[in-house]
Amino acid sequence: MLPETRNILERLLQGNHRFALGQPLRADISVARRYQIANSQQPWAMILGCSDSRVPPEIVFDCGLGDLFVIRTAGHTVDRSVIETIQFGIQSLHIPLVMVLGHARCGAVSAALQEQQGWGENCTSWIAEQIAPAKEQCKNEHDVLSCVIRAHVKKTVARLEHLIGSFAQGVDVLGAYYDLDTGIVEIMGT
Ligand SMILES: [Zn+2]
Repeated sequence: MLPETRNILERLLQGNHRFALGQPLRADISVARRYQIANSQQPWAMILGCSDSRVPPEIVFDCGLGDLFVIRTAGHTVDRSVIETIQFGIQSLHIPLVMVLGHARCGAVSAALQEQQGWGENCTSWIAEQIAPAKEQCKNEHDVLSCVIRAHVKKTVARLEHLIGSFAQGVDVLGAYYDLDTGIVEIMGT
């Protein structure tokens, strides 16, 4: 990881620490800040997360206007629109860090598991289809949902690393897991 990226990650984690403690700095959403960035943006981190209302990245990382470039879909599934959005963030906004943010008790992953009615059955939705490969390694786990959520994050990271590698260098992609109870974001190993 480049020093610049390490600083960005540290900034995210410090913001999350404040949020988890219930001590946010009241991130900059002032009128002055709004004017300051009205004509151009320079977000310093990209977050691909779930649309779940309990996991808004700006709040979870105690960030303000213009800080984060955020993409949210159910179960942070990746389609062409997401890929092109990521591409824009990297090529036009020069963001060096992409975080894939999964979370506990993800409804999209849970629904995908229920839709399957057992392992290896036909998928009934596109989103479930995208999440399905993550199930394979979790068959024998006690907490299947949590395992699939984490495996899906890792698979998404691997896919994005491959995709991003085809058009840019020096971009770090990290997987992370948000705990709904503690408010803490844990960086996942690969
Ligand atoms: Zn979710």
